[in-house]
Amino acid sequence: MSTDPVTKRRPHPETLAVSAGRPPAEPDAPLNVAPTFASTYTAGGDLEYGRFGNPTWSAFEEALGALEGGSCRVFASGLAATAAVLDQVPTGGTVVALEHSYLGTHTQLARLEERGLLRRVLVGAHDHEAILAAIRPASMVWIESPTNPALEVVDIAGIARAAHAAGATLVVDNTFATPILQQPLDLGADIVVHSATKFISGHSDVVLGAVISRDVDVLAAVTGYRTIQGATPGPMEVFLALRGLRTLALRVERAQSNAQQIVARLADHAALADIRYPGFGAIVSLVLPDAASADRFVAGVRLARHATSLGGVETTLERRRRWPGEAPTIPEGLVRVSVGIEHIDDLFDDLNAALTS
Ligand SMILES: *Cc1c(COP(=O)(O)O)cnc(C)c1O
Repeated sequence: MSTDPVTKRRPHPETLAVSAGRPPAEPDAPLNVAPTFASTYTAGGDLEYGRFGNPTWSAFEEALGALEGGSCRVFASGLAATAAVLDQVPTGGTVVALEHSYLGTHTQLARLEERGLLRRVLVGAHDHEAILAAIRPASMVWIESPTNPALEVVDIAGIARAAHAAGATLVVDNTFATPILQQPLDLGADIVVHSATKFISGHSDVVLGAVISRDVDVLAAVTGYRTIQGATPGPMEVFLALRGLRTLALRVERAQSNAQQIVARLADHAALADIRYPGFGAIVSLVLPDAASADRFVAGVRLARHATSLGGVETTLERRRRWPGEAPTIPEGLVRVSVGIEHIDDLFDDLNAALTS
């Protein structure tokens, strides 16, 4: 995929994040694709209408597609991308998903099941044998790794082999790891889904989603869904997301380094019952003994911000069970921290003070 003609290899993700999706290098060409505000185009070309395509979408799709090693389609949100992929399940088909998945994905699966459109089988991320056993009658396997917010890691390559042996499609929601740390298509996944709202945009100012695949039928189907269901993003959102994507590698490296140091420095903190961290990435789950102590911790931070969502330059945190739909197996005192790119000492002092008071 997108092999460099001179070096004969795919550039590193750090390079692709900066270089892919640029206008051709011609005299006076701008270095960036501008946001194109257009509901319609002069007839006779490829675009025709604003719901069918947009040059700003194409630039973003080229960049994120290069990073994931496939072709990308941008959507109005991560959940719009999720809906487009779930729409590909044949009526009555079985979807295997992890117990700890993004809440909105669970809700979509539950609604489709209620309407008799599919059967949903939920399995624990740590029970690899149960996942493999559940796959046999499945049409689609939907995983996240690391999972949200339990931060379990699953064997993507192993699940891809089992899914393909059963004739099922493997979908990986790669929002938490980002293509800087993990490229699921190279591990055998068929489809990658992103909430580009999170690390890819990276500045907590955009809601956006994406689907990436190498399968032309999948790409045609999700493009058709986007067009006819109207799951189309605004050009300004896509422009901002592409601008954010340029610094994805730097942001992820710094946030990951901060997360690793926070885990090391808080390892023996008396206020914590547990710390969940898979060893990579910028999301850490700090487990306090109960809801009350977790709520006091969240109310006590001054630099970090109490807010849902994740993946921004600023550190945010929330007690996940404050959401009624969150899985009951997630501890009441679990606080998910999306570690930002602040100086580690300021960040540690803030979290440590709020935990200690
Ligand atoms: C936020 C999120 C989504 C949903 O994306 P939106 O952009 O909010 O629609 C899906 N999966 C994961 C892992 C997320 O964190």
